[in-house]
This record gives sequence, structure tokens and C-alpha cells, in this order.
Amino acid sequence: MVHVEQVGQVWKFRMARSVAGRPLYFTSAYWVDGLLIDTGCAHTADEFLGVMKDFPVKLIVNTHSHEDHIGANAVLSSYYHCPIMVHESGIQALASTHNARLKPYQHVMWGRPSQSRALPVPEVVETDHHQFRILYTPGHCSDHICLLEANLGWLFCGDAFLGGRDRALRRDYNIWQIISSLKFLVGFGPRVLFPGSGTVKEGAEQELYLKIAYLEDMGHRALEYARVGWSRRRIARKLFGREMTINYITLGHFSGKNLVRSFLDDYSFGET
Ligand SMILES: [Zn+2]
Repeated sequence: MVHVEQVGQVWKFRMARSVAGRPLYFTSAYWVDGLLIDTGCAHTADEFLGVMKDFPVKLIVNTHSHEDHIGANAVLSSYYHCPIMVHESGIQALASTHNARLKPYQHVMWGRPSQSRALPVPEVVETDHHQFRILYTPGHCSDHICLLEANLGWLFCGDAFLGGRDRALRRDYNIWQIISSLKFLVGFGPRVLFPGSGTVKEGAEQELYLKIAYLEDMGHRALEYARVGWSRRRIARKLFGREMTINYITLGHFSGKNLVRSFLDDYSFGET
């Protein structure tokens, strides 16, 4: 299913594979002034193309190379004959999706994207009426970028900002790098967040500060518990409670224990 909603000058597309009429997991793309930011997952690619035919697309920019953000790259770029841009470190991932090792839950929720050819995104992307500064924000993955429209305070932040209070992390994310990227973003004074989840948020600066404070508090508590000899399992239980459903769905790829592991093992990053 693809839900379309206008948010001021920006159009938002929330997409999810549906099974028996129920969405499995939503991911979002945004369109403004001929620029399409992310393209959803492979399972919704054809439906998304059908919806997008009413919107002229001159350029596709991917916030990162995860399969739920690049799924319709191939069909859309061939329909519009438009370029795709991504951080230079993500070009190879987009070109070799056939070799990506997806977990069972990734196949079920999002599917395997077709390969697509991308160009390195420049420091500034211009549309007819807007300028978007490209901000490098690793942590969620190494090729993550955000797009800032500084005049209007729009921040298209992909998965660099996730709403809510994090209680689980994917095994390969780096939580201290995520925090560092959030601090980098808040320095630009954004006003509206357009995240990959599709939950657009006003008061962007405040949202980012709250997220940073929460994650740093959890991180410092995890380090303190580890210093006095607590096991990772015990720290995770203390800070985040029982493992969430996502832990079982993803067979442990996302878990509270992974979040603790990153707080402890990746801490050297936070000291730099
Ligand atoms: Zn992602």
C-alpha cells in the first residue's frame, strides 16, 4: 500500500507491503520540486511507480543504501530517465543488490531491490526553487546522508533520526556515531524533520536534543553498569526491559543487547 499526503510544499509517500490487507512495516519517500528522496522497498516499487506518474521527477537522491529506501530506484529512474545520487560509499551497494545478504525478515518485509546505477551526490543539490545541502551522517550505516533546505529549515533525515525511545539496535549500527551525527545535525538549527519513518515533526531542534540526551544518558548508564561488572544481558534488561517483538521477528538482528554492545564496544568513537 502507498499512502500519499501533502505536507506544505512537500509530498510524503508512506509505503508498506501489505499481507491480508495489513501493512507490515512502513517506510517513506518524499517529493518536492522535482526531487524524490528515497524510493521505498522492492515490494511496493510497481505500486509506487503508478502513484508517482502524477509527479515529475528530475532527480532521485537516496539517504542511504538500505533495501527499504532504494526499492523503486530502477523502475523510477528508467521511467523518468533521471539520475540517482547517493553518498559515494553507497554506489557499490546500489549496483550490487543481487549480492546483498538479506535476512529472512528483510525478504518478507521489503524484498530484494533491483540493481541501480548511481552518481556521487554533490555537496549541494539544487532544484528549480530550492537548495539542499548534503550532510554526511554515518552511524545508522556508513553511507547515510541528510538533506537540509536551510532557508525553510527542512531536514530530510532518512534513518539518522528514529522517533521514540530506542530500546533495540541492529547489530551493525554504531550508536555513538549515531549520537555524533545527531549533534552535527542539531548545529544547523533545523525546524522540520522529514524522517524515513514518515512521522514528520515540527520543533526539529528540540526533538534532536531530546534524542541526544536520552541516548547519552542510556550510554553513560550502560558504561557505569559495565564498570562495576554487570553482564551485558543484565544491563540490557535494566535499561530497556524485556526484548521487544522486533528481536524475535529479526532473529536477534535488532535487540536491546545489541544496543548495549554498541554503547560498550563502540565507546572509543564517543571519546574523539
Ligand atoms: Zn536504514
